Amino acid sequence: MTATLATPTSLDPALAAVRDTLDAGRRLSIDDGLALYRSHDLWGVCELAHTLRQRLTGDIAYYNVNRHLNYSNVCALSCKFCDFYARQGDDKAYTRTLEDIRRETRLAVQAGATEMHVVGGLHPYLPWEYYPDLVRTIRRTAKDLGSDLHVKAFTAVEIVHIAKIAKVYKAADRTAGIRWVLERLKEAGLGSLPGGGAEVFDDRVHDETFKGKIRSDVWLDVHRVAHELGLNTNATILYGHVEDRRERLVHMDMLRRAQDEALIRLGYEPDDEGAVSFAPVVQASGELRSPNRPPTPEMNDRGGYFQAIIPLPFFPDGSELEHLPGPGGLENLRTLAIARLMLDNFPHVKAFWIMQTLPMAQLMLQCGADDIDGTVIWYDITKVGNADTHQEVGVKDLEQAIRDAGFEPVERDTLYRRVERHGVTWRLADRPAS
Ligand code: SF4
Repeated sequence: MTATLATPTSLDPALAAVRDTLDAGRRLSIDDGLALYRSHDLWGVCELAHTLRQRLTGDIAYYNVNRHLNYSNVCALSCKFCDFYARQGDDKAYTRTLEDIRRETRLAVQAGATEMHVVGGLHPYLPWEYYPDLVRTIRRTAKDLGSDLHVKAFTAVEIVHIAKIAKVYKAADRTAGIRWVLERLKEAGLGSLPGGGAEVFDDRVHDETFKGKIRSDVWLDVHRVAHELGLNTNATILYGHVEDRRERLVHMDMLRRAQDEALIRLGYEPDDEGAVSFAPVVQASGELRSPNRPPTPEMNDRGGYFQAIIPLPFFPDGSELEHLPGPGGLENLRTLAIARLMLDNFPHVKAFWIMQTLPMAQLMLQCGADDIDGTVIWYDITKVGNADTHQEVGVKDLEQAIRDAGFEPVERDTLYRRVERHGVTWRLADRPAS
């Protein structure tokens, strides 16, 4: 697949309308998305996604150096797709103390990490103060070691749980409680929110598989309040279980509308339909015109938008939905490509190699993804089949994988700023060493 900016001609005439819409810089409809799902020409779909990705990001592909910290697997819920949770008192139950957190932070800094990614179960007994203490502990420990470690922590589900534990979550005005928690976490040093817990925004799917977990309206509220406070966030879609393809597309549509709102708050002008798309227009001369460019790293200093969509395939093994087949590799490629095309106002699409595998992530870089995440260490929440949870790939291996896929590797920090690295020492490219 070449890195041409010309929109390819598909073998499938059904994709011609999608190509024209893309070239006009217009937003794809849910029906367009269904045409992309139904097309027999998977590579045509991937090429369309690749074209848009090239127009937005060019020849570079991002990775980062991070460490995952799961502070506890004790959870009050029991989502059917999850094989991570434990009950308090179970043999496999664990909860990290602040001393454990200090040790993990030291290991992260010693490994040269720029980011600590923190998520866990909905622990019914931890006091709410544990969470800002955890963030503060990571920030202070890293600072004492001379590192400005970014803390990306807590899914929307956890934020609501913390608000409930703190007794500030009121159904009549839930955003007040969410804001109360996020303000305190930000004050403690929280830098951004991960995108987990979104699953599929549909009440039927939700009630069948994630009952008890927050629904789409609350998930979107958490991210909106985070954006209003200047925190960047990510978004996920966990697909391939009981949802159908239209429901996936509705999920993508709801995310891009939420992103429209965030971008308008940042000063972008919406079009007649209230949309803010980053998709460039192909002019008669063949040149590209971009009415809206994605936020720049400088803009991240006042943040407040979705950075990346992360499509996550469902793995049935060990879950209560073990009888389901789960999505295959081709469906994973197609869904990632469609996410790139539908989410025209998301700057980045992440092929999360820890779940997709590194060879698949390489292929995904050619089908719309521009990021493969990091050198993740200790990842418990969602495993790839029966893989060991100690998953780690060195910087050299990640860079080689990106080069082999045909792209220039760029190390980024959590906010997509370039990182200059010498071994475990790093600094932001346009700033003094951290
Ligand atoms: S997915 Fe999260 S909320 Fe659901 S059971 Fe697992 S840890 Fe708990």
